[in-house]
Amino acid sequence: MLVSSTELFHIADKKNFAIPATNFIDALTAKVYTETAESLGLPLILAYAESHQDYLGLEEAAWIGKHYAEKVSVPIVLHLDHGSDPTFIKEAIRLGFTSVMIDGSSLSFEDNVQVTKSIVEYAHSHGVVVEGEIGHVGSNTVSYEGEDNDQSQYTTLSEAKAFSQSTGIDSLAISIGTAHGEYTGKPEINFERLNEIDKELSVPLVLHGGSSTGDENLKRCAREGMRKINIFTDLIVAAHKEAQTQTPHYMALRDNLERGFKEVLTHYYHVFETQPIELKDDTMKHSTKSRPFFMINPKSYLTGKHAYELAIAADRYAEAADFDVYFTAQYVDLKALADQTNNLIITAQHMDGIHLGRGMGFVTGDSLKEAGVSAVMLNHAEHPLTLSQLVASIDKAKAVGITTIVCADSVKEAKAIAMLAPDIILCEPTELIGTGQTSDASYIEKTNEEIRAISSDILVMQAAGITTPEDVYHTIAKGADGTGCTSGIVLADNPSVMVRDMLQAVTDATKTDRK
Ligand SMILES: [Zn+2]
Repeated sequence: MLVSSTELFHIADKKNFAIPATNFIDALTAKVYTETAESLGLPLILAYAESHQDYLGLEEAAWIGKHYAEKVSVPIVLHLDHGSDPTFIKEAIRLGFTSVMIDGSSLSFEDNVQVTKSIVEYAHSHGVVVEGEIGHVGSNTVSYEGEDNDQSQYTTLSEAKAFSQSTGIDSLAISIGTAHGEYTGKPEINFERLNEIDKELSVPLVLHGGSSTGDENLKRCAREGMRKINIFTDLIVAAHKEAQTQTPHYMALRDNLERGFKEVLTHYYHVFETQPIELKDDTMKHSTKSRPFFMINPKSYLTGKHAYELAIAADRYAEAADFDVYFTAQYVDLKALADQTNNLIITAQHMDGIHLGRGMGFVTGDSLKEAGVSAVMLNHAEHPLTLSQLVASIDKAKAVGITTIVCADSVKEAKAIAMLAPDIILCEPTELIGTGQTSDASYIEKTNEEIRAISSDILVMQAAGITTPEDVYHTIAKGADGTGCTSGIVLADNPSVMVRDMLQAVTDATKTDRK
């Protein structure tokens, strides 16, 4: 099954293991890796490196990768390894890779941030995740992966933090003592650095140059925070060794090669303590946000049976709608709603940015994710957060793969919040909430413009004073990416009919020329 890595890393993080990433260079390698994953019931990151395009072109790689990923039932991520040319990376995204790496690690910090950020924006708008690299994993004298004899540069905590914050990457490759290819001695791994970075960063960490690093070292890396470990050289060395044994004909040679690959991959699954991952079928469906969208936000008006009834009706209407429909609910109702609906993005009304462990009375991102929640609202005027709480909540939501919708009052506040890179900003002048008065065209235009100047990746939601389907129509037609409603729905004579009419208004508005 072809999937994105967000959910896989989230589970790997919770259960503390790493997932191997193996480079395929032809159909044989793609086939044997995915069949090995399937036979063990384990997830895999099937990677194709830009540097291997002489062996296998990008288009062939995409077709082969997708074919074998879809053939098996275990989760397979089709990943572009060491992308360096933005045109090549965008082509990979267009061809169906679900994850890409942009390796700007040999550039200056500023240039690395710039190129990585631009890839993140493009990839995210296509529902694809991005791995970046800071510090530099070099190469040993004999390497099938990078340039021969290329010096490594250790990643520092401050760089890792600044890099992940300013780029919005989904996972980060750090350099802690490994190098690509075969070592002559045993590498020294800086576990202290790994622990330090893992503790401070919420993005999953990635280890390059895993081959011949030593099983004990790798097991420790997996246990102490690495969620993806790249293995390639050891696989081809083993297959090559198998190829040296006397074979009566070509087919027997092929069997030997397959055995070599399979044995080493199986061995590393064991070392990394990789565990089976069962994904719900809809993991891919709402992995990213898109425009337009509509939010049904019953706040604290509806609970239990009443929330459930409206959600079931909304789910039916959302099935026919050609856009995302968010539905917020009370915490205790979230799981039942997620289980009973198929077309709604079940949204929590708040979450705290805390990690599992100590703490009483908080709402953890992990518990929301496990309950089937896909999005969260933060900093609503009726549940405001301090800046540090907001930063922590956004980071945590991102780490567990929950879409963030952050509320802003003024244009100034919207600009400041845009710097935190949430998925959606809800612009709602507090003085208009509950007044039935909608934001005017100039306010909508101004907030859109200011937020997009900071990041074109953020969607802008305008929902002040929405009470009728006409309000919905005009707000979308004026250029909002999305809108939503509370009192207009919950206080209507028939809330589900109101939902139906408002969804229809979104459809109608998108058919007209939008500003
Ligand atoms: Zn690498």
